[in-house]
Amino acid sequence: MELSVLRHSCSHVLASAVKELWPEVKLGIGPSIEDGFYYDFDKKEPFTPLEPGRQRRPSGACGTLALTGFTDEDLAKIEEKMREIIKKDEPFIREELSKKQATDLFKKLKEDYKVELIQEIPDEKVSIYKTGDAFLDLCRGPHINSTGEIKAFKLLSVAGAYWHGIETNPMLQRIYGTCFETQKELDEYLKNLEEAKKRDHRKLGPALEFFDIYHEEAGAGLVFYHPKGALLRKIIEDYEKQEHLKRGYQMVITPHIMDASLWKTSGHYDYYKENMYTLKIDEKDYVLKPMNCPGHILIYKSKTRSYKDLPIRYFELGTVYRHEKAGVLHGLLRVRGFTQDDAHIFCLPGQLRQEIKSIIDFVFDTMKVFGFNEVGIELSTRPEKYIGLESDWQLATEALEGALKEKNLKYDINVGEGAFYGPKIDIKLKDALKRSWQCATIQCDFALPKRFNLSYVDSEGKEKQPVMLHRVLLGSLERFIGALLEHYNAELPLWLAPTQVLVIPINPVRAKVPQAPDGRLWRPGSNGVKDSLLGYAAKIKKALEDNFIRVDCDNRNETLDKRIRNAELNKIPYLAVVGEREAKSGNVSVRKKGKGDIGTMPLDDFVKQIKQEIKEKGGWLL
Ligand SMILES: [Zn+2]
Ligand SMILES: [Zn+2]
Repeated sequence: MELSVLRHSCSHVLASAVKELWPEVKLGIGPSIEDGFYYDFDKKEPFTPLEPGRQRRPSGACGTLALTGFTDEDLAKIEEKMREIIKKDEPFIREELSKKQATDLFKKLKEDYKVELIQEIPDEKVSIYKTGDAFLDLCRGPHINSTGEIKAFKLLSVAGAYWHGIETNPMLQRIYGTCFETQKELDEYLKNLEEAKKRDHRKLGPALEFFDIYHEEAGAGLVFYHPKGALLRKIIEDYEKQEHLKRGYQMVITPHIMDASLWKTSGHYDYYKENMYTLKIDEKDYVLKPMNCPGHILIYKSKTRSYKDLPIRYFELGTVYRHEKAGVLHGLLRVRGFTQDDAHIFCLPGQLRQEIKSIIDFVFDTMKVFGFNEVGIELSTRPEKYIGLESDWQLATEALEGALKEKNLKYDINVGEGAFYGPKIDIKLKDALKRSWQCATIQCDFALPKRFNLSYVDSEGKEKQPVMLHRVLLGSLERFIGALLEHYNAELPLWLAPTQVLVIPINPVRAKVPQAPDGRLWRPGSNGVKDSLLGYAAKIKKALEDNFIRVDCDNRNETLDKRIRNAELNKIPYLAVVGEREAKSGNVSVRKKGKGDIGTMPLDDFVKQIKQEIKEKGGWLL
C-alpha cells in the first residue's frame, strides 16, 4: 500500500471525527504531505486569545500566524474519536455524481468550501467517498479499503492557513497529523521529531555562536556569521574550491549588481521579477543578482570559442539575493541573501550526458565526504510557463533521465515542476533524523544560450550554439550549514569542527597560592612552574598549528572541571590536558568528545592520530 494513500485516508478519518464532535465545522481540504497529512477546518468559534507574553506559533506550511480554534485537549478528543472510527472498520465507498448533484449535495450539507472546489474541477463527473453512515467527502481517491487498515497515527499540531493560501481569504485551522503502517515506525518518527526540536539550527546556531539572524536591526532573512560559523564556511568553501579545480572547473567571480537590460535578455526580468531587488544607478535600472548565470554567460561571450574549448565549466561561490515573502523566511533554510556553490557548464549537445553523469558523481562524492549517505532524487519536467522550443525540452529531459538510468539511480518524476528555462534533477539529502534537505540541482538549459546568442565554432568553421547546464552541489551554503548542524547536532566531524583541539593547562594562571614546605608563599610564576606549564601548552599549540590543526588554548582562571565542561558544551572534538607530569615527559593527556579520557600519549603520536582521523573522516587536510 502506498503510504500517501494510507495517510490521506487517515485525513478523512480526522475530518469525520471533527464533524462528529463539531457538526457545524466546515471542511477545507485534506491531502497527504511529505511526512503525514493535514486537514483544514473552518471552526467558527472564538479563537483562543493569546496569553500575555505567549508567542503566536507560526504554521508549518504557509507561514501564517495561527490563532487556533483547536486546543491540545481538542486534539486528544479528536484522536479518541478517530480510534473509535478505526475500530468500527468502516469501508471507504466511492460514488460518482454529476457536478450538479454534487453541488446540491454539498450545499445541503453547508460545505461552502467543497461547493467552491467542485466548480474548479474541469471534469463533468466528480467522485465522493463515504465512510460510515454520516461522513462523506469530495475526493478523487484512491483510498484504503476500510478504516481498520489504519494501525498507527498521531495528530501533531494546529496552525492557521488561509483558504487556497491567499491572504484575503478566510483563515482556516489546519490540523497536522501523521500515520505509519506500524506503531514501531510511528514511534521512531515521533522520537526523531522530538530530537529535531532539540537540534533546531535556529537554536544551535546562536547558542554555539555560529551565526545569528537579526530581524529588527538589519532586516529579516539576512545571515550574520560569527567567527565560528565563518570559519566553518571557510572550511567548506576551501574544500569546494579545491575539488572543483581538481575536476576541471575554472573559478570566476561576477558582480553583485548588473544592468536590468541583462536580466531582460535572460528572461528573469519577465519571469522572475517578483523575486528580484532593483535599484537605480545613474538613472538606470540595476538588479541585485538573484542568480549567477548571466554573469557567467558574459564571460563565455567575451571571446570566440572553438568546439575544442568545450566543455567550459565556470564555478563561483556566488552570493545572490532573492525577495522571499516575510512569512516564508525560516532560519538558514529560507533567507533573502545566500551563497550558492554555483557552476555553469557550456558544452556540445553530444557532451551533455557525460557532463551530467560527472556532476552526479561529484554530488555523491561530496555528500559522502560531509557524512550524508542517503539521498532522494527527483526529475522535474516542463512547467506551464516556459521559454524555448519543445524539441529542446525533450532533448534536455532525455539527457537528464538517461544519465540517471545509466547510473542505475532510483528517482521520482515531478511532472511540470521544472524551471521556466529547462528540466532539472534535484538531489535531496537525508539527515540523521531521516528528514530531506534540498541540496544539489542539475538543470539543463537550451533557452539562455539562445537568448544570449552564445556560439562556438565547429570543426567545419560554422557557428553553432552550445548547450548550458546550471548546477549546484550543496546548493545554498546557508541551508547546507543548517543541515550540517542538525545532522550532527552541532558535533561536527573533526575535519569540519572550527576548533579541533583545545589545550588546557592544569594549573590556571591564578591558582590558589600554594605554600612551600617552609611556610613561605609560593607566588605563581615566581618559581617558574606556571610559566613552564604555559610554555608547554604553547608548544603543543604551535606543534598542532604547524600541522594545520585548528587549536585553541584555554588559559582562563577556572577550574579544570569547568573548562572541560565548557569545551564539551562547545562540542570540541579533542582536549589536550597538560600538567607538570605531561610537561616533564613531553606527553599530552587526551580527552575525546563522547569517549572521555583516552589516555596519555607522546605529542607526536597525538598529532599523527588527529591527522589520521581527519584523513579518514573527511579525506582532507588544509
Ligand atoms: Zn480522499
Ligand atoms: Zn544558473
